[in-house]
Amino acid sequence: MIRPNLLVDSHGRVLRDLRISITDRCNFRCMYCLPETEAAQNFYRGRWANLPDSNPIAHQWQPKSAILTFEEIERVVRVAASLGIQKIRLTGGEPLLRRNVEELVAGIAKISGITDLAMTTNGFLFPQKGAALRDAGLKRISFSLDSLDRANFQKMTGRDGLAEVLESIRLAQELGMNPVKVNAVIIRGINDQEIETLAEFAREKNVSMRFIEFMPLDSAHAWKNEFVMRGHEILARVQSRYKLQSVTSNNLSETAKRWSFGEGQGELGLISPVSEPFCGHCNRIRLTADGKIRTCLFSVTEHDLRSKLRSDASDEELIAYLQSVVWQKEDRHHIGEPEFVAPERSMSCIGG
Ligand code: SAM
Ligand code: SF4
Repeated sequence: MIRPNLLVDSHGRVLRDLRISITDRCNFRCMYCLPETEAAQNFYRGRWANLPDSNPIAHQWQPKSAILTFEEIERVVRVAASLGIQKIRLTGGEPLLRRNVEELVAGIAKISGITDLAMTTNGFLFPQKGAALRDAGLKRISFSLDSLDRANFQKMTGRDGLAEVLESIRLAQELGMNPVKVNAVIIRGINDQEIETLAEFAREKNVSMRFIEFMPLDSAHAWKNEFVMRGHEILARVQSRYKLQSVTSNNLSETAKRWSFGEGQGELGLISPVSEPFCGHCNRIRLTADGKIRTCLFSVTEHDLRSKLRSDASDEELIAYLQSVVWQKEDRHHIGEPEFVAPERSMSCIGG
């Protein structure tokens, strides 16, 4: 039974975390997300050869008119907060490409009930925006950084931007947005040789490094199981160099298994959705830049909230709609099972 004032699914999970993609556009072309570069094509070539009419280069952005305005996003957050959502993460696409994003942050930060406001970014534009975002109320930030080698960084992201991202991490720490998180997607044969260097970076720079398994969410549908460096393999590699201590958490919905170096500096997290799914405790929903609600990263159906927002729907109607959509949240993903079908849209559209 749907309970008033909460977002509950039919499996008894209470949702507290709303991830909002504020644009589907991006200034990077990461191999695991928008594999449109020559380097990415070369890597996946064998796979692409099997895809009918697949031309991942032909990525189409959503027209501006399809993208939710700041007012529309803030209204959704207000309604969601009245239903028990506490955490908001702004993502994309690249959220820092959205003009005046700090105004959106300021608007959301004022909404009663929102206790945690975070952003995931590739960091390239953060030096221009960092102070304004912090002043607007952004509490936490995660940067994507898959390589500490300039050439490999460029190969993986399509952009010669390592220096800018490193500067962004330093700046976020200086601005007091600690602990700064860093996300690294590890692809076997591309950056797995950097696992130890990335771990050392976490220890040396006192950041929280999240090693993420490569998921089937790339726009070319080129993902293959064999590309995935599993969490336990990554952990074994780091443990052969460092004496790690497990960090216990009473937050059941936390996606990362966390480890410390035992020296009070830096932390590692293993996010292993492919090899060790954490669906049972998932308390997240997603809102895409074009106003669709997704109840799972791997949903194959989306729910059109935008048309409700742009009709005369009252807040009560939005509440009833959100509750009915959340009720349908999938019990788990089916990666690795014969019937698994990857979502049509890539991570850049869904919002990671
Ligand atoms: N552009 C921003 C960024 O890269 O941080 C925010 C959006 S990005 C889609 C959010 C996160 O999703 C990033 O940390 C990225 O590494 C991760 N991601 C994208 N595609 C992925 C995939 N196929 N498997 C695992 N993680 C992925
Ligand atoms: Fe852009 Fe982020 Fe996707 Fe990379 S992971 S292509 S930075 S949206």
